[in-house]
Amino acid sequence: MNCSDDTYCLGIESTADDFGVGILSFKGRALANINSAYINPEGGIHPREASRHHAGIAGEVLSKAFHKAEIKPKEIAVVAFSQGPGLGPCLRTGATAARALSSYLNVPLVGVNHCVAHIEIGKLVSKAKDPVTLYVSGGNTIISAFDGGKYRVFGETLDIAVGNCLDVFARAAGLRQKEGMPFGAMVENVASRGHSFVSLPYSVKGMNLSFSGLLTAAVQLLKSGKHTVEDLCFSLQEVGFSMLAEVTERALAHTEKPEVLLTGGVAANNRLQSMVKSVADEHKVRFCVVPKEYALDNGAMIAWTGILAYQHNMVIPTEKSFVRLKWRLDDVHVPWVES
Ligand code: AMP
Ligand code: MG
Repeated sequence: MNCSDDTYCLGIESTADDFGVGILSFKGRALANINSAYINPEGGIHPREASRHHAGIAGEVLSKAFHKAEIKPKEIAVVAFSQGPGLGPCLRTGATAARALSSYLNVPLVGVNHCVAHIEIGKLVSKAKDPVTLYVSGGNTIISAFDGGKYRVFGETLDIAVGNCLDVFARAAGLRQKEGMPFGAMVENVASRGHSFVSLPYSVKGMNLSFSGLLTAAVQLLKSGKHTVEDLCFSLQEVGFSMLAEVTERALAHTEKPEVLLTGGVAANNRLQSMVKSVADEHKVRFCVVPKEYALDNGAMIAWTGILAYQHNMVIPTEKSFVRLKWRLDDVHVPWVES
């Protein structure tokens, strides 16, 4: 297997609102990472509309990626795509593009688990070797660490993801999404002007988390008009992020891993970063956080995980490349990490 820096993998991400294409060398050099987000003016993600956005924009994103990478399509050695978990119509659009490319270029096709990809790109860019990972995004909230051939789930949300909790609250508060700024980032801005802590339900059940009660309570208090939006955003962050920090700390204490890695779209939040860093500092382990470009959903993480999987012969024939809407992180065999 040729693994020089002239060997490239193209990765396609399309699990939800983002359609992304990344091109990476087998040594982990990112040549391109282009993304186009579907924005619903009414908020939320309409799966069919998002998949139409992806189908409409795919050609343009692909050609931008080749242009940025300054390579020709025929120089691609492997095509990888996010096979799951995610929204069916969105996943199918990315998979169709990936199948067409792999068959046209006559190169192998690799199906990648989206959650594994968030961890692997985090390890690549932060040089973490064996972290406890807190993966927080619009669709997922998972605390995991590697053990016995898989990324094991130590804790996860029992209902909605923390990013979804922030997004729905922002919409209820009438914050208007502008210039592609994520709702979570708008909550963060407004929270920085909050001062008084408002009591909200703190819901950690064993090692798992629940955000739906927290969201309902915050929205009810908002409607009551007794508190400012600033104080509610501030309190929502304090409570939700403390819950995440608590479970991350317990996973760290149990596993005695040498690093904590924060990844996923919500990792961009400064308050969450400072809370998780305090946990890491207290346990004298390294705190690693993924930069925004690679924290939000992106094609580069799919390309990189595609390379790792390809090097372990995890290629799939086109006729078996169906998407896996509920593909769990701890169902994935990860032979490229040493046990
Ligand atoms: P992803 O699903 O990984 O693409 O991440 C999208 C999620 O990240 C959405 O729920 C966003 O609102 C959230 N997000 C992005 N930036 C921030 C931020 N600065 N603070 C909190 N959440 C954020
Ligand atoms: Mg996204």
